[in-house]
Amino acid sequence: MSLFLYFRSPDRVKARGESPLRPHAAAPENPQRENSRSDSAEPPLPKLPLPKEAEEYVPPEAGRGLVPGDAPEFPALSDRLVKERSARQDFIEESTLHFKVVFDGYEHGGISRKILGILEDAYKQVGNDLDYYPDGPVTVVLYTEEDFRDTTRAPEWAGGLYDGTIRVPVKGVEGGEEEVRRVLFHEYVHAVVHSILGSTVRSLPLWINEGLAEYYSARYARRTGQSIPLSSLEGSFDRLQEKADIAYLVSYSAVASLMDTYRAYRMRDFLFSCAKGHGVNKAFTESFSMTYNEFVATWGKD
Ligand SMILES: [Zn+2]
Repeated sequence: MSLFLYFRSPDRVKARGESPLRPHAAAPENPQRENSRSDSAEPPLPKLPLPKEAEEYVPPEAGRGLVPGDAPEFPALSDRLVKERSARQDFIEESTLHFKVVFDGYEHGGISRKILGILEDAYKQVGNDLDYYPDGPVTVVLYTEEDFRDTTRAPEWAGGLYDGTIRVPVKGVEGGEEEVRRVLFHEYVHAVVHSILGSTVRSLPLWINEGLAEYYSARYARRTGQSIPLSSLEGSFDRLQEKADIAYLVSYSAVASLMDTYRAYRMRDFLFSCAKGHGVNKAFTESFSMTYNEFVATWGKD
């Protein structure tokens, strides 16, 4: 299973008047947790530098974009998720036909109805556009910010992730509804793409997956061209570090351009063609009247 992260860019955080990349950094680290981490059998995770302004380090499995969650270097995350599943009896579930929302038992007041409402909006809007609705209910786990970091070890900038389950930290919807909506729409698109493509999702260039998620969730004031080459955004955004926000903008811009020119039904054709195992190149040519290589070589280079 792969992980798809939602990038909460410094600008988005700033817009809400919080410090960039450290939305809830005011709470001091729990020293006990730190000790129990270092005492556990898990080897310490190697660290990569975050963008300068973060002045912090993040573990690589929580890097931006696509991460092979079942690769040998990521057993720790699987272990944590198994632990999390076994602890889930303490969680509170609310479901509709399309979603199973699991809360980790914190005081969530009236959030559940709003969250389910937003998810149903995503279900309708994305489903209507791509004419596709996942078969079974999509599971969404809502965490406190602290539990989200603890369970997933996602970095501060990550506002959510999808690994077969949508996992989102929610502090409260009041005042932050737009952000929650963006995260849920973004991760729901990953759920839809994964539902359509199944295991072939691994062959899908990451910029298409992230670009689609951004297309349905973000409100960019501008588009850009290939300020980062699409060819370098196919597998992982991990090495981009401080350029990750540009990577999302480029991905969004490229997908938005495809959607403008060919419309959503062609994107649907493309995804279904990939799912049939036609391969990205053949599927792309069939759906967008040009080869993948042509698009990558020409789009956004004016
Ligand atoms: Zn994503």
